Amino acid sequence: MDKGWSGRTRAVHAGIRRSQYGEMSEALFLTQGFAYASAEQAEARFLKAEADEFIYARYGNPTVAMFEDRIAALEGAEDAFATASGMAAVNGALMAMLSAGDRVVAARALFGSCLYILEEILPRFGVEVVFVDGADLSQWQAAVTPGTRAVFFESMSNPTLELVDIAAVARLASAVGAQVVVDNVFTTPVFSRALAQGADVVIYSATKHIDGQGRCLGGVVLGRREYIRKTVEPYMKHTGGALSPFNAWVMLKGLETLDLRVRAQADTALAVARALEGDPGLDRVIYPGLPSHPQHGLAMAQMGSGGTLLAVDVAGRQAGAFRFLNALRLFQITNNLGDAKSLATHPATTTHQRLPEAQKAHLGITPGLVRLSIGLEDPDDLIADLQGALRLL
Ligand SMILES: *Cc1c(COP(=O)(O)O)cnc(C)c1O
Repeated sequence: MDKGWSGRTRAVHAGIRRSQYGEMSEALFLTQGFAYASAEQAEARFLKAEADEFIYARYGNPTVAMFEDRIAALEGAEDAFATASGMAAVNGALMAMLSAGDRVVAARALFGSCLYILEEILPRFGVEVVFVDGADLSQWQAAVTPGTRAVFFESMSNPTLELVDIAAVARLASAVGAQVVVDNVFTTPVFSRALAQGADVVIYSATKHIDGQGRCLGGVVLGRREYIRKTVEPYMKHTGGALSPFNAWVMLKGLETLDLRVRAQADTALAVARALEGDPGLDRVIYPGLPSHPQHGLAMAQMGSGGTLLAVDVAGRQAGAFRFLNALRLFQITNNLGDAKSLATHPATTTHQRLPEAQKAHLGITPGLVRLSIGLEDPDDLIADLQGALRLL
């Protein structure tokens, strides 16, 4: 691959493996296994498989490898391992790295399933997990003590769109030799410079913007070749979290249009946020691309964008939020994000329902909070839908 290419070009061309037919669109190798030319070849491959030699789809597959190489090239990572879902990636990245007696410091504001891994699973295996408020550097400073093995956070949190200062936390982590593991889903590969900012490992749920059209589950762990091939791959290939070749093919094609889609979605998110800010039906509009966001400066420096999601606090608490959601005609009520279709979620009663009330309050998940994932529709239609629903409150 030409190292001079920009990310946008890499996202179209990197990683391609053409068969003898010279197909233009990436081939879908929908196969579990691979035949060997001889018993000797099978023996040799089990001893050491070279980069383009495959054994079994749980270990690797040519279509999956194309996706891994393409997203690694886009992210600027040495290597990548693709997984069946975003959660298989989070679990694999952490479980493969950690051992009993290790200490992990994590941001408190996490996707529900990430929180489950850190709060419920890792402690059962003797890993100490300490939670901090991700936006408060003094809490990171106090918690990231010598002996800390890893820090884990979402670079932009769900659903309140709080940022973690990647470079600052990475400085604290590297001072004690801790690995920086970043769940970068809300930032997307388009606005991510996490590795350059000091992250060691970046994780995506490809289910979100990378597919971008609400079809398939998938995930990926990106990092140094040594970590991906010697730590993550053995764990993943023996525990069964492989990405299906079909889903890999969908994600691979998704990467080709990712940059265009995500930038258009972010531009629309900013237009929507500007149109809604100050609306009497809303107590607050949370969007990192607005100067009113407390971390607007960090968002611009770290991502160069406010991203594709916003959150609004609807007046009238839960009843107001439900009236608003039920009055939307274009936005669909669902819990996914990053789709071409615009989506609305009420976190307090769905994705974050499990959390105790005090923790919801601490995280800013108020009864009126609605998360909006902005799609590819005409911005004026989206604004009209939202304003129309607000007028009915
Ligand atoms: C969706 C999501 C995940 C999990 O991804 P799946 O593909 O649903 O397993 C992890 N982290 C964040 C921030 C997410 O939004």
